[in-house]
Parts: sequence; C-alpha cells; structure tokens
Amino acid sequence: MTDIVVWHRADLRTVDNAALATAVEDADRVAPVFVVNPAYYGEAGLACDARLRFLHESLCDLRRQYRDLGSDLTLLSGDPRRRLAERLADGWTVYCNRDVTSRRGRERDRALLDRDGVTVFEDDGIRWPDERDPDGTVAVDTRVRWDESCADYFERDQHPRPDSVGPNPIDSEVTVEEIARRHDVAPEKSGVPEGGTVAGSERLSAFLDRLGEYPGVVSPPAAAQARSSRLSQYLKFGCLSERQVYQRVQAAPSSRGRSMYTSRLYWNRHYHQKLADWPGWTERAVNPVFRGLYRDQHDADLDRAWREGRTGFPMVDAAMRALTETGYINFRMRALVATFYVYVLKQWWKPGADFMYYHLVDADPAINYTQWQSQCNLTGVHPVRVYDPAKQAREYDPEGEFVREYVPELAGLPDEHLARPEATPVGVQDACGVDIGTAYPYPVVEYDHEARVARDDFATLDERAKEALSDPQVRRRCSFSNRGRETDEGDGDDSGQASLSEF
Ligand SMILES: Cc1cc2nc3c(=O)[nH]c(=O)nc-3n(C[C@H](O)[C@H](O)[C@H](O)COP(=O)(O)OP(=O)(O)OC[C@H]3O[C@@H](n4cnc5c(N)ncnc54)[C@H](O)[C@@H]3O)c2cc1C
Repeated sequence: MTDIVVWHRADLRTVDNAALATAVEDADRVAPVFVVNPAYYGEAGLACDARLRFLHESLCDLRRQYRDLGSDLTLLSGDPRRRLAERLADGWTVYCNRDVTSRRGRERDRALLDRDGVTVFEDDGIRWPDERDPDGTVAVDTRVRWDESCADYFERDQHPRPDSVGPNPIDSEVTVEEIARRHDVAPEKSGVPEGGTVAGSERLSAFLDRLGEYPGVVSPPAAAQARSSRLSQYLKFGCLSERQVYQRVQAAPSSRGRSMYTSRLYWNRHYHQKLADWPGWTERAVNPVFRGLYRDQHDADLDRAWREGRTGFPMVDAAMRALTETGYINFRMRALVATFYVYVLKQWWKPGADFMYYHLVDADPAINYTQWQSQCNLTGVHPVRVYDPAKQAREYDPEGEFVREYVPELAGLPDEHLARPEATPVGVQDACGVDIGTAYPYPVVEYDHEARVARDDFATLDERAKEALSDPQVRRRCSFSNRGRETDEGDGDDSGQASLSEF
C-alpha cells in the first residue's frame, strides 16, 4: 500500500497543484498536511498579524476544498522537519511542491527534502541546477533562454483538480481557530483582502473586468490600492498559481493592460529566479562592495521617523502609514520609501527591508529583498535613482487623495502645498488651521543635499563595484536577466517597472 502525505507550503490550493495531482494517481491513501510552525509567530516571526490571518483564512479555505473532495486538511504543529520525519518513519512518502526560500528555509528544507521518501515537484518556471558553489550560488548561468522556459511554464496545461481524494487517515492536532487563539492573532490593519482560493478567484474575475484601466491605476498610490489587481498575497501563499492567473489574463481581449499585467507575472518569476540563484539576498548586499554601506551611520531618530511616517515628507509618510495600517502599498511607493531610507536617510538597507517585510501581507522574500537591493543599487549596475517625494506627490497624487487619507493632519492644506508643506506661507497655514512644525514635522533632512551626497557616495564606489561584477560568481549571484540588462528593474513603462519586451 502506498501512503502519501501531500505537504502544503506556499501552494494552498487544490487546482494546478503538481504534488497533489500526482499523489492522487500514485497513492492508495493521500493525507494533505500543513505544518503550523510556531517560529512563524511572535516577535521573531517577521510576520504581522494581518498576514497570519490571511494565512489562516487560506488554510480554512483549503480545508473546505478538501472536504468537498471527500478528504480533509490535517494540521500538525511544530518544526516541519521533525513532524514530517515522523511520518516518514511511519512508512509514509512525502510529496511537495518546490518553494523558493532564503538560506534559512533552504537549510530547513535540505534536512528534509534530501531524505529518501520525499519527492519535490518543480513545476514553477524556475531553473534549479544542482551545480552550486559552497555558499549556494548557482555555478552555471540560469538565464540563457530563460524567458522561453518561463513562457513554457506559463503556457503548459494546468494540473486539474482531482475528482476526489478519499478520507485523510491522519488526524489534525490543532485547529486554525486554536492556533489563532494560542498566538493571539488579532490584526489591527484595515482593508486587508480575505485569504483563500475562492476570494482570490473572485478578485481575479473582478480585476479582469477592468483590465483595460490597469495602465492608469498601477502608479498613483490611491488608485492602485483600490483598483490594481491586488493579487500578490494570493500568489505568495499559492491560493492561485502564477500560471492560473496568467492563463486567465491571456483569455482576456488584447489590450495594453493585458500586456503590462503579463509582464509583471514574468517579473514575479524573474525575482524568484534571483533568490533561487543566490539564497543570500535576504541577508547581505549582493555586490560585496556595498556590504555594510551606511551601517555605522544608524540614526535611531531618523529610523523611527521613517517607520512611524513622521519624516516631514508627506508622500513618504503617507506610504509608511499606509504600509503599517493596511499591509499594502503599490510598487512606486515601495520603491519611494526604500530608496528614501537608503539614499536620503543614509540608513543601512537591511532593517528597512525587514520592517517592510514584516508589515506586507504579500511579503515574499524572493521579491522584497531583491527589490530593495535593486532599487537601492546594491548590485552596482542600476542607476542611482533617488525618488523625489515632492515630485512623486505632484505627479501621482496631485489632488492629495493619498496624503489626506494617511496624513490627516495635513488635510486642510490646499492641494498645491501638499507636496512641500514646509514651504506653505504662514498666512495660508493660519487660514487653514495647519501649523507646520507643530501639527506636522518639518523635513527631517534636506532632500536635495542628501540626494547629491548619495549620488557622490555611489559614484565613489562605482569603479570598485564594476570590478567586483567582473567576478563571474558575483554576476551569477546578481542573476540579471539577459535581455534589457542595462535597464533591469528600471523604467520600461510609466509605472517605473520594465516591460515584457525587455526580458
Ligand atoms: C521595495 C519593494 C519591495 C517589494 N516587495 C514585494 C513583496 O514582498 N511581495 C510581492 O508580491 N511584491 C513585492 N514588490 C513588488 C510589487 O510592488 C508588488 O508585487 C505589487 O505592488 C503588488 O500589488 P498588485 O498585486 O496589485 O500588483 P500588480 O501591479 O497588479 O502586479 C501583478 C503581480 O505581478 C507581480 N509583480 C508586480 N510588480 C512586481 C515587481 N516589481 N517585482 C516582482 N513581481 C512583481 C506580483 O506578483 C503582482 O501581484 C516589491 C516592490 C518593491 C519596490
């Protein structure tokens, strides 16, 4: 008799799930399992309560999917390595889908996934050569014809949902509700999408109805919050596969929105390939020349002002408060606050990236840390692009919708003063009852000066950075796409992201 545990990780769905589809073919008995790891909870867990609730809702939804198939989802609690090793010792086989993780996750995985009786399914568009340097860097170029192999993944048929799975013989040790109580999961964030495949599919359908307007909503932060796809958390937890979303988008009539959205799905895979190529992205600068840059300039007051949204730059402050209050900001605001932290405030990138990671509901190590490093040019090839918060406010929030929502103390100011409230004439401040310096801080630094210093700092390091990149190992770590290398992660359309044609 063949007994197979299907170990769910970042694939909380029953459709387009290679491990599940194959297990149903191969096994007499199938036990779908999720292992709740207590290390994911609490202060050290790097996950805000809103993300944990999203996970819990997604698990409840997965449980419903299995019950509809005549099975159930088993919840075990503890270190997955130990809990699954026990099942292997009991004679079970384990099937799971690959999850692209950082060094720590990979160490955890290696201890388990290399064991006899475990099969990992690799149906995700990511290349994973075995040839590696001792630090985990790929020893071969994964990017040769990468776009074609990724397209092949997107275009291949999905794995259908099984007709039935049969009773699950392994009992759950806990319920989602008990876990939430035990760890006191009580999110304070508002407007967080509901987890699960059902909610994700509904959101996708609603988004496809307005795909045509996508190019106009992706950059302005208020419009993006309301009308961008907002599918990232469903992709991160695997409530939907990238391929499912891709294929539904391709079925929509051809439009600029469709091609822009498609290019972003490629970006999703492109950044996962980066973490697959080098697991160190979450820990240290990819180009050694930038390791520890600004680390000894840590300024607790500036750091706090950034986290709390009290820098005196309304667009930065609105974005930081939106991040902590809702768990979401769009690409442009993520890039703005990341570059502001490093270039303008001269803070070491890593605590900033960790803070954002903690608060994002869609937090994905493969995108968050690689994007931080790319935006802040810790690669040594990207332009030093210092987003000007005032310009961003004028161009992407001209009527102050975003700033007024998240920085209500400025709500009374006329639109034309919202980009630089410190320059508001005193008479205007008096007339609208907004006292800059009391109700809202003056800028904590002088932007033009700090932007200039940052450009000089990076120019000074430029030659050494280029030299470091001549080391093939460093280049492989960076995992640049082959096409459009010089504009990698740069401006390809009006959203500040490159387009599909640049792959
Ligand atoms: C500093 C920084 C950190 C980021 N951290 C994350 C993160 O932790 N998780 C995450 O999913 N995205 C991250 N992004 C990328 C992007 O901002 C979000 O994917 C997007 O804002 C999510 O909203 P949406 O689903 O409406 O995206 P859409 O604009 O509708 O895009 C569709 C999908 O494409 C993918 N995508 C979009 N932009 C990018 C990109 N630049 N790189 C890779 N994939 C992309 C996402 O899966 C997204 O859901 C980060 C960007 C920056 C600059």
